[in-house]
Amino acid sequence: MLYRTFPRDPDTRISALGLGFMRLPLLDGAIDVEASDDMVRAAVDSGVNYFDTAYVYHDGTSEPYVGSVVERLGVRDRVLLATKSPIWLAKTASDFDRFLDEQLARLKTDHIDFYLFHALNAVRWDFAKREGGLGFLDRAKRDGRIRRAGFSYHWTNALFKEIIDGYAWDFCQVQYNYVDTDYQAGIDGIRHAGAKGVGVVVMEPLRGGALARLPDAVRKTFAEFTTPRMPAEWALRFALDPREVVTVLSGTGSARELRENAAVAASARIDSIGAEETALYDRARAFYRERMKVPCTGCGYCMPCPNGVNIPETLSLWNAASMFDTREGTARWYKTAFADEKAGGDSCVSCGACLPNCPQGIAIDKRLGEAHSFLLG
Ligand code: SF4
Ligand code: SF4
Repeated sequence: MLYRTFPRDPDTRISALGLGFMRLPLLDGAIDVEASDDMVRAAVDSGVNYFDTAYVYHDGTSEPYVGSVVERLGVRDRVLLATKSPIWLAKTASDFDRFLDEQLARLKTDHIDFYLFHALNAVRWDFAKREGGLGFLDRAKRDGRIRRAGFSYHWTNALFKEIIDGYAWDFCQVQYNYVDTDYQAGIDGIRHAGAKGVGVVVMEPLRGGALARLPDAVRKTFAEFTTPRMPAEWALRFALDPREVVTVLSGTGSARELRENAAVAASARIDSIGAEETALYDRARAFYRERMKVPCTGCGYCMPCPNGVNIPETLSLWNAASMFDTREGTARWYKTAFADEKAGGDSCVSCGACLPNCPQGIAIDKRLGEAHSFLLG
């Protein structure tokens, strides 16, 4: 395994591959403890020392599982625990402390090594500033309940930079893969974080598994490379290449997959992708982008919609369903997270308020209707 460090914490060695506890193997709808334990053992044996979970993963059962497996294997002194505060559930300043104390108990530990505000967006960032969330992070670091403070992020590039500049973060966690180079924080945001001394954790290097199942055209493109590689290796090497990236989270489904990914991370050095590989990544990206339904960059300038529509995310899910042939799964997520919350395309009343703000000139109201029909039609 190769190890890297956060800029503000050069003494803590972090494995280039981190283990995500968001999509654990399931048995009868619950975490499959035996299979998950095998994976955790394989991770520790491979030198993986960064474990990432969150209050809400697996309906609140991920953190207790992590606490349990770390205790049973007796590896607390060998792993770094990262978890996330469910900031959208907080109503007052005291809730920040309440969640953290509950998380310490669930994880069976007296400190959390890396603590994040989960999925900051404009509303949550305003809430954190207004309700003393940043002071809470300072306090929790001082009293030793957390060691380092960060945030995870799925919103626009512009807001990402504002948040990075708005507090002395130790690290951040962003989506990055060879298709999403200019999406959400993007490589521009990653470079910005690095320039400010903020370490970067990458999530979704396989785009929820979509980049592990390549269409024929992309498979043939990558087959032109001199050395054969599995699809996951192409994806992991890309995510591990920027020097700002400290660790890449992989939500593997088995011990075998974990070992394969660890072997990649053990040989992927910073800035090691050459011109030949770059050309292949560019062609693969172009293939996916040709299948995009709408040229939305997720910039968010159209937001907020007075009628509550989440415009960038609705358009993004439409694109994802088309690009990766994942209509069924994407539609399920779209329905529960957006349409049922009256934030989907069918809630657009064509008031036109967003239209002048879109730098891409997208006919947003019309395209939202198409997106909704495509996903739930
Ligand atoms: S046109 Fe639709 S999406 Fe745009 S601001 Fe009006 S209701 Fe919202
Ligand atoms: S619809 Fe336009 S303004 Fe809104 S996020 Fe997409 S590109 Fe940006």
